[in-house]
Amino acid sequence: MFEEQRLFGLATNLMVGTVVFSLIAALIVFRFLTVRLRMLSESIEAFRASGFTTPVPLTLPGKLDDEIYRLSAAFQAMSERIAMQLGQLEQVDRQRRELLANVSHDLRTPLASMQGYLETMLIRADELTSEERNRYLQVAVKHCERLGKLVQDLFELTKLEAHEVNPQIETFPIAELAQDVVQKFALKAQKCQITLVAKCEPDCPPVRADIGMIERVLENLIENAMRYTPVGGEIGVEVRPAGARVELRVRDTGEGIRGEELHNIFDRYYRVDRSESGGTGNAGLGLAITRRIVELHGGDIQVESAPGLGTTFIVDLAVA
Ligand code: ADP
Repeated sequence: MFEEQRLFGLATNLMVGTVVFSLIAALIVFRFLTVRLRMLSESIEAFRASGFTTPVPLTLPGKLDDEIYRLSAAFQAMSERIAMQLGQLEQVDRQRRELLANVSHDLRTPLASMQGYLETMLIRADELTSEERNRYLQVAVKHCERLGKLVQDLFELTKLEAHEVNPQIETFPIAELAQDVVQKFALKAQKCQITLVAKCEPDCPPVRADIGMIERVLENLIENAMRYTPVGGEIGVEVRPAGARVELRVRDTGEGIRGEELHNIFDRYYRVDRSESGGTGNAGLGLAITRRIVELHGGDIQVESAPGLGTTFIVDLAVA
């Protein structure tokens, strides 16, 4: 009888022990799962609170490759992607607003001048001499041309940035093109009392590129060199082979560009001297267009400059 009671007691203890142990084990497993779920939910909440801009790094305890771990990994990847895309959208929006502000500023200046001259002609029609009328008309036409250049540059850059331009690739002698473009600027250089020379190595191989676009690159660089080089200065256009590439250099003895400005000058709408308004027709788009064209050809453009001594732009293109 006593033995039976002892056995019964033992069995009861065992059962209670098993139940308690199972409960504790279930509690531990439950806690382990809820801790990880809570961490995941806190991480989601922190991401939401940051305005979906900062993904919160999440390191779960334990090294289980279970559903919770996979869920958190998917959430991490998703939050990083959302944050990146949101950042890109914000940047595009900022650029769009900047572009609108810059465009309206640059268009307003020549438009206002043109309007001023034309209105003066209307109001003072009876008093103006024919010379004055002519002069006013000439100024109005000049502003009109600047407006046209601005709109054309904007249109060109927008198309280049939207990848809507397909270069018509052909093989042509780059040295000859450089000579032709230099020739085109010879008269203007003479008027500005600037020496403009082309130096092309005779064994320079032809390149494979869109001839019109490379002409545009050369024109932009020479125009800039002329704009920033004082009377008595010198501009050199050099073409020389450099291994499997051809190097195109436009060098001037102008005012140069300060070191801290160098990495910005290829950004669209960047002008070192912001006081120089769009009324001059130079909206800071030239180098942005130039770089896009060079990149479209798989090439590279670099700049070296020393303030007060001059600037050299180096374009490299693939040989045919
Ligand atoms: P912009 O139409 O104002 O010339 P660009 O994009 O062609 O615009 O050039 C951007 C800026 O880079 C210019 O405002 C100018 O300050 C600087 N820059 C470009 N080329 C030269 C140069 N050859 N010498 C000195 N500064 C230059």
